[in-house]
Amino acid sequence: MRNRKRTKNKAETRIVVDKEKWGVNDNTYAIPPDFYYDVEYECSDCSERSVWTALQQKHWYEELGKTINSFAKRCQICRARINADKEDQKRHMVEMANKPEHPNEKFFKKG
Ligand SMILES: [Zn+2]
Repeated sequence: MRNRKRTKNKAETRIVVDKEKWGVNDNTYAIPPDFYYDVEYECSDCSERSVWTALQQKHWYEELGKTINSFAKRCQICRARINADKEDQKRHMVEMANKPEHPNEKFFKKG
C-alpha cells in the first residue's frame, strides 16, 4: 500500500461495494471491502498527486470488471497523453495497412 492513502477530506465519499460484482474475474477468495473510499496516489509518470475517487473505483472494478489487484497509476493528464499516443500509433498502422504495396515488396516477404 506504499504510495496510496485515503484522502484527508473529511467529507470524503464512501460508496458501498457490490460484493456480487467485485472480483468476479479474479477467481479469488479474497474478502471484498465494505466500501470504496477516495484514495490519493502519486502518478507514476509525472509524480503529481491525484485522487482516485470511490466512484471511479466502483466503475473500474464492478462495471469494467477489472482485477482487484489493479490500481490507478497515472493521473488524468498522463493517461490522456498515453491514449493520444496510442491513437496516433493506430492511425499510423491503418495508414500503413492501406498503403499500396510496393512492386518489390513481395520479394522481401517470407511465406
Ligand atoms: Zn501524471
